[in-house]
Amino acid sequence: MEQDPTPQPEQPGGDSIVCAGCGTVAEEVPVTWTCSVEDGARRYFCDDCARANLRAIEGRLDSTWW
Ligand SMILES: [Zn+2]
Repeated sequence: MEQDPTPQPEQPGGDSIVCAGCGTVAEEVPVTWTCSVEDGARRYFCDDCARANLRAIEGRLDSTWW
């Protein structure tokens, strides 16, 4: 019988989560992290980076819109 000690939910080829902002590594996705899909690729941002990213996105949106 085979044993599967590490059940993998739906993370194809990815066994660890890395914050796209500061590079923090987490084994599982913390509930406080933000997940955004860009070009079909998942990107995770930790709590701090999510806020910074939101600000950056809003700022860029403002700049882009005008
Ligand atoms: Zn981060």
